Amino acid sequence: MTLLKQIPKVDKFIKNKIFENYSSKLITKIAKDKINKLREDILSNNVDNIDEQRLIDDVISEYEYITKPSLEKVINATGIIVHTNLGRSLITQKSFDKVKSLVSSYNNLEYDLKKGKRGERYSHIVKTLQNLTGCEDALVVNNNASAVFLILNTFAKNKEAVVSRGELVEIGGSFRVPEVMSQSGAILKEIGTTNKTHKKDYEEAINSNTSILMKVHKSNYSIEGFTSEVALEDIIDIANKNKVIDYYDMGSGHMIDLPYNLDKNEPSILKIMQHNPSLISFSGDKLLGSVQAGIILGKKELIKQIKKNQLLRMLRVDKITLSLLEVHLNSYLKDELEDIPTLKMLYTSTQTLNKRAQYIKENLQNICNCEIIETSSLIGGGTTPNRKIPTIALSIEYKDFKPNKIEELLRKNNLITRIENEKVLLDFRSIQEAELDEIVTIIKKVFK
Ligand SMILES: *Cc1c(COP(=O)(O)O)cnc(C)c1O
Repeated sequence: MTLLKQIPKVDKFIKNKIFENYSSKLITKIAKDKINKLREDILSNNVDNIDEQRLIDDVISEYEYITKPSLEKVINATGIIVHTNLGRSLITQKSFDKVKSLVSSYNNLEYDLKKGKRGERYSHIVKTLQNLTGCEDALVVNNNASAVFLILNTFAKNKEAVVSRGELVEIGGSFRVPEVMSQSGAILKEIGTTNKTHKKDYEEAINSNTSILMKVHKSNYSIEGFTSEVALEDIIDIANKNKVIDYYDMGSGHMIDLPYNLDKNEPSILKIMQHNPSLISFSGDKLLGSVQAGIILGKKELIKQIKKNQLLRMLRVDKITLSLLEVHLNSYLKDELEDIPTLKMLYTSTQTLNKRAQYIKENLQNICNCEIIETSSLIGGGTTPNRKIPTIALSIEYKDFKPNKIEELLRKNNLITRIENEKVLLDFRSIQEAELDEIVTIIKKVFK
């Protein structure tokens, strides 16, 4: 009973000077909860004294736990440049600075400054994309999954969309082509076989209810051996002859040629646009190296029809997306590719990566066992299936710690590594130059 009388009163408790710099609303809520809990504990005889200082500490640590941002910076030492779990493409401070004042002030997002009338949200990137790719028109939506859905819903609802059986893929995060198609209202017309699809398969599939010949980038798988698929330019040709739409879901969407022959069977957006396709779509944050978005390029008349679809209103993008995308597209136009980290990482030479590995190795000399090794990295993000590029990695060993243990210790300090052949590796392909000292600090802290 006496203990119950000693329970602090919430009103008085929260007046403590220590809470001055915290939100009183949130502190009051937490304090109420903690004090109620304390009362219950006393009633069930779980407490034998009241420690007010502990109560204060509990309230503050709960406050800090609740208000700590859940999204935190990590260092990507997996080597996977387009890592969907780690946020895909990076945006440089420089690019970010360019849009800062724009997004923190009012702007002409949907306002025509010349006419003083309502303008078009999508107009801002059209000119840049036209100059860059030669497209007739363009549209940007939330991501490429929504671009696929929007296109099919606009043109193939209750109509047939022809797709090769070799391209009915599932991409990470539950994007399955057949399911997306059926949800959009399109009738899937499968043609060919898993390993082979021929021109005549497309030609013979076309009937009066056919709307689209669709090609899908295989993204995260490849088939080898006895295979054949129809080139996009042939599909475009068949579509034109039969007056139906051709549409290529490019997925990754690299604007320009890639190093290491990565694009051997996968022409760039610039090359594809030379064939004058009806419609193509691709992600903004895979190999393009910009923000999350789905970019649609194609014929003016078709884009006009897509814009009439009510769904567009639900998939529309914000000024932050549009302004950053414009900055990046301009970097392509002006050939300032160093402002696009995804490309920069892809193009960094192994000699440079080696120097960075050397730097870390030297700084960790008396801390753990490090060895520089030559290996290869996957690009990730469903970009170039099974293709690897050369890289330099540093293996980390410490006492008799198992690789899983080391990986976990580093991960819990926001350094994400990978395990290859029983060794924990820091793969320099995806590590930023500015992060080298941070890595040294983390490893020193973990193995102190
Ligand atoms: C990645 C991918 C998508 C989905 O794109 P998001 O931008 O992640 O929505 C769709 N199709 C293909 C072929 C892809 O590779």
